[in-house]
Amino acid sequence: MPDDSKDYVINLRVSRATYDKIKRKAVENKESISNLIRKAIDDSAEIIGDLSSEILGKRDKFKDVVGYHKAKAARDLECARCGTAIAAGGVVTVGETEGAKKFFFCENCK
Ligand SMILES: [Zn+2]
Repeated sequence: MPDDSKDYVINLRVSRATYDKIKRKAVENKESISNLIRKAIDDSAEIIGDLSSEILGKRDKFKDVVGYHKAKAARDLECARCGTAIAAGGVVTVGETEGAKKFFFCENCK
């Protein structure tokens, strides 16, 4: 049975020029090559994620919602779709994802 708690290593073959460039950047940043690559992938993934939600837009923003219910706002909220202020005590529609993330919507938006 595979051990899921264990980290595995992937070796990549790169050109001398690419290796030299990565090595130079690592030295400049005073970090190891593997740390530099890990950070580069982390940063890129975050940026790509942000860009993709901006470009593909709102349409995907609530795609993980699995259910809606009405609730009474216990404090001032902001509509997740249009940004309208929802005052404490007002009716709010709550959209919940399976991961228990919650979105709050004003009466116009759902
Ligand atoms: Zn709204």
